[in-house]
Amino acid sequence: MSREPDAEYAAGDLRSTGMSLKHDRTWDYELDRILRAVDERAADTVGLQFPEGLKRRGPRVADDLRAALPDGVDVMISGKPCYGACDLDTYLMRRTDVFVHFGHSPMKESEKIIYVPLFSNVEVTPIMREALAELPAPAPDADPESGDRPAVGLVTTAQHMNRFDEMRSWLEARGYRVQTRRGDERLTHEGQVLGCNYASADVDADHVLYVGGGKFHPLGLAMEHPDTEVVIADPVNNVVSVADTETFVKQRYGAVHRAMDAEEWGVIFCTKIGQGRWETAREIVRQNDDAYLLTMDEVTPDRLRNFGLDAYVNTGCPRITTDDGPQFDRPMVTPQEYRIAIGEEPLEALEFDTFHGTW
Ligand code: SF4
Repeated sequence: MSREPDAEYAAGDLRSTGMSLKHDRTWDYELDRILRAVDERAADTVGLQFPEGLKRRGPRVADDLRAALPDGVDVMISGKPCYGACDLDTYLMRRTDVFVHFGHSPMKESEKIIYVPLFSNVEVTPIMREALAELPAPAPDADPESGDRPAVGLVTTAQHMNRFDEMRSWLEARGYRVQTRRGDERLTHEGQVLGCNYASADVDADHVLYVGGGKFHPLGLAMEHPDTEVVIADPVNNVVSVADTETFVKQRYGAVHRAMDAEEWGVIFCTKIGQGRWETAREIVRQNDDAYLLTMDEVTPDRLRNFGLDAYVNTGCPRITTDDGPQFDRPMVTPQEYRIAIGEEPLEALEFDTFHGTW
């Protein structure tokens, strides 16, 4: 399942609801930038990595590149699952002179890697206009220079980042004080959120407008900021809604309750470059003789079933726990939920699992 709302599908939404895209999207693969890099570096090999929703475009992009590249330059495509910029194919990266990661903004810049973000071309203001009904209305005679205007936080995903300034100006022109920040170094842009990091929404506002596809991001956002109303303006599916965490919290309580009976634990350390929380995983294993540290790349129900343990703590991508958790036949919990399950923290303390920093 996709963690970041990668190109073709917005974070699980379309597949789980059966909704079809209301807007077709075309992407700019920035082939000229890739060709330039090949030329400048006198590269013999080019590696391409696509997110899951765009993998089937991979061979066509390779065709276009091969047609434009000098003879003798090999183009290779990563077949590894890819869910975010945390998930680089380091094997292919080491073996190619130019490595291109499509569909996500950089988590950590490197000379070797060209990030092609594949911005969405969907208009955002029509759905923002509908979302105004969920935001506090500015007083008609409010002085645009005064602090009386209602404050609204603004966040979006990497795919719509190209329109962030437009979103901000559009809200300001309608009388809002738009509050934005860049969360931490895991995020490339001001106002950007990831499925595992909502620090850009730590702003002084009672309402945050999330412009983007999918329900999972704003749910995490609402969990992380329980005193904030998170209004979702989804320009891909043309829907406005307000994030409601109740079902999500119940699902997490259920997982924690089931994990409370566990005698033997698997503690997953994810070996993907940007998903490792080594100290967190080790700490749990150090303190629990019945816990076993499992190093894994892809975390799937089949792979865990082979271990036959009673419950699992996932220190890798938090979305595996929250979005895919119900697919596993044993309870899977976050590191904090583990502490609740073993009685170190109360159930009411439950928080969304977030991920900070890079590698
Ligand atoms: S760890 Fe964060 S950035 Fe990586 S796939 Fe998961 S949610 Fe996305």
